[in-house]
Amino acid sequence: MSGTQDRGEVPAARQGGQDAVQRPKLREVDFGPVENGVDYLRSVVSHLGWAKEPNPRDLKYAVLHLQAAVEVLLKARLQLEHWSLVFKDPGLATRQRFESGDFESCTTTAALARLKEIAGVAVDDKAAKSLAILAKWRNALQHYGLKAQSRAVEARAVQVLDFLLAFVHNQLMPALPEDQARHLDKELTYLRQQVLKVRTYSETRLKRLTGELAEHQARTVKCPQCGEWAVVVGEGWVRLSCRFCHTSWDDPAVLLIYYVLHHQVEPADVSEVCPACDEPGLLAGCTRIAAKPGDDVTLCFSCGTTFAELPATAEMWQVRGGSLADRQKLFGNGERRDAPGSDPSN
Ligand SMILES: [Zn+2]
Ligand SMILES: [Zn+2]
Repeated sequence: MSGTQDRGEVPAARQGGQDAVQRPKLREVDFGPVENGVDYLRSVVSHLGWAKEPNPRDLKYAVLHLQAAVEVLLKARLQLEHWSLVFKDPGLATRQRFESGDFESCTTTAALARLKEIAGVAVDDKAAKSLAILAKWRNALQHYGLKAQSRAVEARAVQVLDFLLAFVHNQLMPALPEDQARHLDKELTYLRQQVLKVRTYSETRLKRLTGELAEHQARTVKCPQCGEWAVVVGEGWVRLSCRFCHTSWDDPAVLLIYYVLHHQVEPADVSEVCPACDEPGLLAGCTRIAAKPGDDVTLCFSCGTTFAELPATAEMWQVRGGSLADRQKLFGNGERRDAPGSDPSN
């Protein structure tokens, strides 16, 4: 038994003194920007839906409105610190320009940095990554159109929605007058339920996929597009695709480039040739695989061999001089097991 019961009672009024202590010491904000931002969120969940595949138009408005919500809500929080912080250059801010809306405002990236440095509001890496990708998608839509799989948009949108709903609740709601806060709380509850439906639907598909991919964990990497553990590499020099969102890449090297860019990893060398298969598909020391999600490994996106440690350069050249069969014997015999960690203690 959970012990929580809804007895339908009207909650007792809180003591004014305690209330004042619990609320962060923030100046009151107009409901305007918050209501505006939350209205965009309502539009996002209605476009995403959950029981049907969103059509291209739905996805377009989901992306545009989600990005609009991000901008409005982050800036609403900045305004609680000081209105000049929403200017691109706060040094040039004037009250008159702020009130007339006649100014260039800061980017999402700058807003996030200011929130962290000035307001002490930290955004976790996962949400920050999704926010960055969302901003790119919005720019793509505005300038040349967007080519993204609906499942990728949905997965990223859910991450951003999760972040924004918590952000509104924790960072903006406490600054609102009581009656507006109560109204907003109801809105947030509704939105959370809608997001949960989208998430549950996609988690069901993900669970099914996890079963399917169980035997390939040693060569399954996180998709640069949707962020799920759903790209199985090591199929040779062929087109690769995400089993979750169906985004595809021409060959292992193209995927490798997207992987480095989107996951913001720093490989020792992106164009390394794999000692096991001789293809330029090796990502050294910075790949994460589903089998060991917490460790950086060296993985060949072409043959799928993982290397505990790359052989020393001399040994590598020696091996390259040998036949493919020799190399495969040394590095995994085509079974993609961890290569024997050579110990270059020189
Ligand atoms: Zn994907
Ligand atoms: Zn290889």
